[in-house]
Amino acid sequence: MGSVPVTKTPVYTLAEGSPYADATSVQSFTDGRPVKGLMLLQDTQLIETLAHFNRERIPERVVHARAVGAWGEFEVTHDISHLTSAQFLTGIGTKSKTLARISTVGLERGGADCVRDVRGWALKIFTEEGNQDFVFNNIPVFFIRDPVKFPSLNRSHKRHPATNLPDASMFWDFHVNNQESIHALMHLFSERGTPKSVRHTNGYSQHTYKLVNKDGSFVYVKFHFISNQGNATNTAAEATHLTGVDPDNHTRDLYDAIETGNFPSWTLYIQAMTPEQAETYRWNVFDLTQVWPHADFPLIQVGKLTFNKNPSNYFADIEQAAFSPSTNVPGIAPSADPVLQARMFAYPDAARYRLGVNYQQLPCNRPIAPVYSPYQRDGFGAINGNYGGDPNYVRSSLKPVSFSTSVRDGAPGFAVGGAHDAWVNGTILGYSSEVTDEDFVQPRAFWNDVLGKQPGQQESFVSNIAGNLVGAAPELWEGVFEMFSRVSPDLGEAIRGAVLAKAKEQA
Ligand code: NDP
Repeated sequence: MGSVPVTKTPVYTLAEGSPYADATSVQSFTDGRPVKGLMLLQDTQLIETLAHFNRERIPERVVHARAVGAWGEFEVTHDISHLTSAQFLTGIGTKSKTLARISTVGLERGGADCVRDVRGWALKIFTEEGNQDFVFNNIPVFFIRDPVKFPSLNRSHKRHPATNLPDASMFWDFHVNNQESIHALMHLFSERGTPKSVRHTNGYSQHTYKLVNKDGSFVYVKFHFISNQGNATNTAAEATHLTGVDPDNHTRDLYDAIETGNFPSWTLYIQAMTPEQAETYRWNVFDLTQVWPHADFPLIQVGKLTFNKNPSNYFADIEQAAFSPSTNVPGIAPSADPVLQARMFAYPDAARYRLGVNYQQLPCNRPIAPVYSPYQRDGFGAINGNYGGDPNYVRSSLKPVSFSTSVRDGAPGFAVGGAHDAWVNGTILGYSSEVTDEDFVQPRAFWNDVLGKQPGQQESFVSNIAGNLVGAAPELWEGVFEMFSRVSPDLGEAIRGAVLAKAKEQA
């Protein structure tokens, strides 16, 4: 016998719970006739309904405003407990609940979701040792390595301050003068810049992190979530077409896939290197404009991530979700990468501005682990009981607290004075966004050995650049041709030819 779900008709109430007669009409003076007279200020429902509507919007994220999200599960398939004490990575079969948010970067909340852009690839893993956030991107490298350039980079990808239009001149003006972005540009203008859906994107940490073990030993790692759906892409023409006819197609694709039980999944891999290897490695491990070539540091399989549940309410679950590279469990620690260090401040600061100072208490962000953080009190929206009468000052002997002995950020390699730390400090001291020929070596490998080995990829890359650059001021073109010639002379010349041909077509 099948059970019939009992649907109870809810009784409408005011927000304070008082049952209310009619949500569909205002209160007004009446002398008994059916026509309504003057409206009354006592109409709490009308006033609250209008006032609340005026306050429905919260500040939009400056970047990554447009997103899709899903609940899911992470499962360890290959044990790496010899590398980290993080419990959620320990023991084959260990499962943790997750919340993901995949976003475009430049456009506003209502922008098309299938445009050429980097995808933010954020994941919250709810573990017994607190939340672990991975705030990754769908390309393996980033545009800058000095965090002070972050606002400038993003503004150059957004709207012009005078015209309020996306502006190719601004875009290329920034990149020609900050050429450490060349490697990320190579990825952005490859076919992967226009993924077929978010199910067909990878998530890369870009930054180097540390996996730390109980004894304080650590390895440097990069994380890779590789799509089990493959990396299907749209051509530039397909993406442009979809932007017009179906600007929400990535959102619909993910929602429908999950709703019909076609759960997308990713395989988590790491690359790992010892501190000693880092000291002599050709590439600065704190430079997120560079990858670690697979031949040097092969991928090590770790686990499987599956998206299996749609948000029941987009605003509650996804818009209010807040992710930060500073949210790490014991066993995972940041490296000295300056962009990572700066993001560890900037992301929680953005969440405090958008969601209020108690955003960690919202259901979508709330850890499943016990939280006892009594020196963070009060503020808007304190909904966790606010620690009752517990001391709100440190070192109380009336109610003492105990502290964990697990190894966190104080692990060796984080400026605590060991031999490796001296090397870390020296490496960061010598760090700058000055561009040298070294910056073009990995882009050249990508051009020759990755795009060059796949039919049509070099041609579409040139066409994608030309289609964008032709919209920029012609006086900027030469600088762009020269920049791509540093990757490979044939590339610079191909772009020159394609841009001049497009310009002629459009004349
Ligand atoms: P590999 O040949 O071992 O790896 C190349 C990687 O490029 C592939 O594994 C794949 O990454 C990615 N890739 C393949 N086809 C495309 C495409 N059409 N568009 C975009 N990316 C593609 O070489 P190396 O590790 O020596 O790296 C060579 C270059 O490849 C690097 O300079 C970098 O630009 C790029 N790359 C390297 C990655 C790394 O972490 N080593 C990661 C991604 C790209 P995946 O398997 O992650 O999908």
